[in-house]
Order: sequence, then structure tokens, then C-alpha cells
Amino acid sequence: MSKYDEIAHYQDFEDLLKILKESNNNYDIKKIQKAYTLAEKAHGDQRRISGIPYILHPTSVACIVAGFGMDTDSIIASLLHDVVEDTEYDLNYVRKEFGKDVANIVDGVTKISKIKLYTREEQQAENVRKMLIAMSNDIRVIIVKLADRLHNMRTIECMKEQKRRDKSRENMEVFAPIAHRLGMKAVKDELEDLSLRYLDPVGYKEIEDALLLKENEREKFIDKKKKEIIKASKLPGSKITVYGRVKSINSIYRKTFLKGKTLDEIYDFFALRIIVDEIKDCYNLLGVIHDLYTPIPRRFKDYISTPKPNMYQSLHTTVIDRDGIPFEVQIRTWEMHQTAENGIAAHWKYKLGFTRIVNGKKARELDAYISRIKDVLAAQIDTDDSTDIIRNIRNDFDQNEVYVFSPKGDVFNLPNGSTVIDLAYLIHTEVGNHMVGAKVDHRIVSIDYKLKTGEICEILTQKDSHPRRDWLDICKTSSARSKIRQWFKNEKRDENIVEGKMMLERELKRSNISLTDEELEELLQFMLKKNKFNTVTDLYASIGYGGIQLWKVMPRIKEEYNAKFKPEEMPPVIVKNATPRRRHASSGVIVEGMEDCLVKFSQCCNPLPGDDIIGYITRGYGVSIHKRSCTNIPEDISTSEEPERYVKVSWEDDINDNFRSTLEIVCSDRTGVLADVTIALSSMRIFINTLNSRSIGNGRALVTATIEVFSREHLESVIERLQSLREVISINRF
Ligand code: MN
Repeated sequence: MSKYDEIAHYQDFEDLLKILKESNNNYDIKKIQKAYTLAEKAHGDQRRISGIPYILHPTSVACIVAGFGMDTDSIIASLLHDVVEDTEYDLNYVRKEFGKDVANIVDGVTKISKIKLYTREEQQAENVRKMLIAMSNDIRVIIVKLADRLHNMRTIECMKEQKRRDKSRENMEVFAPIAHRLGMKAVKDELEDLSLRYLDPVGYKEIEDALLLKENEREKFIDKKKKEIIKASKLPGSKITVYGRVKSINSIYRKTFLKGKTLDEIYDFFALRIIVDEIKDCYNLLGVIHDLYTPIPRRFKDYISTPKPNMYQSLHTTVIDRDGIPFEVQIRTWEMHQTAENGIAAHWKYKLGFTRIVNGKKARELDAYISRIKDVLAAQIDTDDSTDIIRNIRNDFDQNEVYVFSPKGDVFNLPNGSTVIDLAYLIHTEVGNHMVGAKVDHRIVSIDYKLKTGEICEILTQKDSHPRRDWLDICKTSSARSKIRQWFKNEKRDENIVEGKMMLERELKRSNISLTDEELEELLQFMLKKNKFNTVTDLYASIGYGGIQLWKVMPRIKEEYNAKFKPEEMPPVIVKNATPRRRHASSGVIVEGMEDCLVKFSQCCNPLPGDDIIGYITRGYGVSIHKRSCTNIPEDISTSEEPERYVKVSWEDDINDNFRSTLEIVCSDRTGVLADVTIALSSMRIFINTLNSRSIGNGRALVTATIEVFSREHLESVIERLQSLREVISINRF
């Protein structure tokens, strides 16, 4: 393409004024004129690579934006979009002369232009799209940027091939999908077609030629159908517009080259579009079309009653004429047509003038958001209270995510409030573990610096550096936190043990609990199984690195302490001193394959002779005996973590020993209940280890009794006896 061809794609200020005057919008022409004068002065002698005066580029962009029907500020921002970056006039100047909205749009467009967008990875492309939308705190930023991009693509012929390809790929991956989401089909189609031309020149040419060959045939066909339809519709010519729709080359390319179809196989290769004034005419015409031609089953779609997420509305149907030629028909109103072509930009004619509407919105939610705008715009006709509507939209858009770059241009997506620590661990665990600091936009920042969308962040690392404990409180993401904990867990076991024990003792002291080391170990037994620890030392280590958080477990520890160690307020006649017992296998349980091994009865289920039991080989405490039904024993041992630790055990035939069992007795809460229970137990010569009661509301009390019995039958008879007491409501074996 020569210079003379390229100039065809430029428009000057006269063209802009003409577009503005022909529109029905109320533009501030004086202010636009002032902006043009500044742009002209600022760009001065600057030229495009092709040699064309630079000022014609922003003027052309302004023409495109005006063509969308956008407002005065958007047109001014288009005229000034390259001024701040390329000339001596800065943003403050623009703000002073044209207001903060214009300055904000110019700033947004400039920032986006500085970002290296090209990326090969699918995931990255989605992040880039999301980030661009997040960076555009005003939707007009994206609209001006799309127009800028479109004009640059129209005039890219004189650029180097590599540059053309890079830009084209950016369009395919980033800008065209954004235009699609915003419902700006005209921009999307043109960007894609221009890009395809540089990405696959041969394929593009093939389709272009085929279309040209068919052009004559197509025109005849369309003309015939047009006449048939208008005649059958019985509408006056001024009320109905019918024309042949040329599909975008890119969409034909996708269907032929990517889906392996021939041009003849594409149903909507011949396509008609019918535009009418009213919705009811759309449905009437659908009936007319289906009478005239044979509809192809399942090819009818009603996007009027169910619009697409990007606001698109139309009726679609594909029919076959008497000659057997299939063609697609789209039927819509003029208003729908505007929306179909220009999407979100079409809605500026409502003069809502709302801004900052897609602030930080995730791309997936953008679709939902746009359909919401549509609802809001529809509702606005009734209420006409636009300030309320704007407020509603803004509140809907809290910033949930930030997008930042690595110096290489990779985009990272983090929850809002994330610090440089979170980014470091997101990049790689090793980067986090060796971080010494960070630079944001080339300046050193503190470690608790909260990242903002669009910033370039470099993580500084050093081989011998490692995480600090206070990072756990600074970082925002749970993944960073767990990686930091993991590091402390692996690297600092000895320190963690000391630290963890100290932390626990401090907490216990605060609760006025003082225990010997041995008692403390016994107290903590209940936590081992639950957390899959083998020893109390493991537990301390975990507390030390933060795997177990004390504030979470302290209430349970205190409960356990109260149940097992707290001196009870008991009726003095009954209670004897409880003595901690250790048993050997000979005294009650036979462990299969092991003689004389240390046997311990678990505290969690207190098995009794007669219960179905199982043994678990602990590390250092011999075999602990559980009821088979104990919640700490996996239901299916063969699939448990260490199945080899479970051993078969059985009760000896003659057991002359007592076993501990805990009963929870719910009874009516009145004085004397505890005495009644204790009297009943002592009348059966039952040894009571501990006994306490507390009110549980509703006029009820819970009595917890740890007693000694010699078998399950024995216990059952005790339960039976207690149940006969008038006050007792229910009894649970604990
Ligand atoms: Mn530009």
C-alpha cells in the first residue's frame, strides 16, 4: 500500500465537525475546537512513519469515537490521547484546561499503551484482558483505546512485518475479545479482519478472492430475496430495510480453515439483515419469512427475548429457498442494530454520562455487568433518577483484584490488598523464601507494600536470605502464609519446638493452669491423634511454626484440662483419689504376636472388657487400645495412612481388674441430683474417679462421671440402675 492509499484512512478536523453536526447529540463544539488547537500545536511537525502529519491520527481516532455516538469528553480525550506521552504538555495541563474526566481518560489510554501486551499463553491473555479492564476505571478509556487501536491497524501497512504481526496477535488475543465483551461488533470484526490479513496473508487472500468471485451471484440473490420479502411483509418501504450482510473474513476463515468446511457449506454465507422500527414487526417478519421459505430445524434463535450477555438482540433464522439455497436472516429494530454494532458505546446516546463503571471488575463478571447496565438503562426510562442508578452501578463494582506485572511483562493476578510478599510466593515458592525486598515501578518499597493494578513489581532475592515470622501477619493470601509456615516447619524444627512449647506455656499460665511436664504431655495426648502427630514434640513444633494456631485450640485444651486435671468440687463422702494406671498385656488384653508389651487404654473411648477392640502401635507408648467404633480409628484400616500400625487385640478370659469409663448423664437440674447419682453408684460399690455437673439450660444438668467397672456387662448394669432414677433423662457412654 502506498502513501496515497494510506491517506484514505485519515480524517481531518473538517470531517470531525461534519460527523458531530450530523449526529443528534449536543456537543460542546467550542471545547472540542480548543482541544484540537492544543493537539495541533502540541504535535507540531511530528509525522507518522508513513510521513503523514501526526495530528491526523488523533483527529481520525476522534472521528471513530464520534461515530460511536460518544460524548464531548471522549472526543476531546481522543484528540489529546497522544499529547501527554509524546509532547511537552503534561497531564496537569490537560486537567486544568479540560477537567479531570478528560485527564483521567488520557491517562488511562497512555498507561495501557505503555504495557507490553503480546503474550503467547492463553491464561496470560485472559489476565491481560482483565487487567486492561481493571485499569480502565472509566469505560471510556477502553472505548478510546479501541478506536486508537483500530486506526493504527488501518494504517499499519508501512510498519515492519514483525511489528504488524505482534500488533495483530495482540488484537486477536486482547483487544478483539474486549470489543466482543463490550458488544462492539463492528470494532471486533474489523480488528480481526485487519489482523488476520497480517497473520495469515495467504488464507485471507483466498477467502477475499472467493468472496469477490461470488460477489455477482450474491448481489443477484440478495436482490431477489429483498424484493420477495418486502412484498410479502406488506410494510411500506420506509418502515423496512433489507440488505445483504457480508460476513467478516475472519469468521469465514474460522469456519473453513479451522472447522474444515468449504465455502459452500457455510449456511450464512448468503445472509440477509432486516431492520424495522418496532419489536412486533420483528416477530411478524419472522412469520413472513417462515411462510416464504422452509426453515431449517434448530437454526432459529430468539435473542430478543433472551439477549446475549453483551446486550446483543436479534432474531436469527436459517431458511432454504425454492432453489435449495440456504441463507441466514437476522431481524432486529434500529435500536438493537445500534447496540449490535457499537455495544456499550451505543448507550452514550442516553446521556447517562456515568463513569468509572467497570472499576476493577473481573472479566467473567463483566458480561453479567453489561447485561445489568442494559437493565439499568431500561429501568431508567421509568424512574429517570440517574444519580441513584449511577450510585448503584458503582457500588456494584468494588475492587476485588489487582493485576501487576513482572519486569518481563508477565501479568499476575492477586486479591486486593496483597503485598509484595504475596506476589513473591505467587511467582515461585523459592522466590518468596529468598526475598529480601521489592521494587515497584523501579523504586524500592517496604515489605508490607500493597500492590496496585498496573504496577511493575520486581522481587529482589538473595541466596542466603529467608522468611521472617512477622511475614505471616503481613501477607494477605493464604497460599503465601502456608508456604511461609511450610518453610519454618522444614527449616527450623528445633527452634519451633522450643518456641511452640514456650507459646503454649505462656497461654496456660494466662489461664492459671500449672502442670508438670508429664501432666502436660498427658493433657495433650488428645491432640496428637487428631492432628496425626506421633509425639508431643511434633505438636510443639507445629505450634512453633504456626501450623496449629493456639487461639483456635486453647478452648479445647482448657476443656480437656477441666475434665482431667482440675480439682473437682465433689461430695466428699464418695470420691477417692484417682490413680493413674498403666497396664501390661497380662492384666487384661492380649496383643496378637506380641508378649508383654506396654498396653495403654485410650482416653478417647475408654474400652471395656466385652467391647470390640483394636490396638494401635504408638511411637514410644506401646500399644494403645481403642474401641473398634472409636472415632479416632479409621473405618477402613487398609486404606488408612499407616495400616501396619494397627494390630489385632482381644480381651483375656478372666479379668480381675477395673476399667475406667466415662458417662454423660443428662438429668433435671435441681439440688440433690448429684447426691442421688453418687448414692446410686456407691450403693453398687462403684469406684468413682471424677464426678462433676453443670447446668446446660432448659432446666437440665449434665453430670459427667468417670467410674471404674470390670466389664461391659457391669457397665450396662450400672447404666440400667442409673436410668431408673427419676431425675435421669438420658445416659451416654463417652
Ligand atoms: Mn494513538
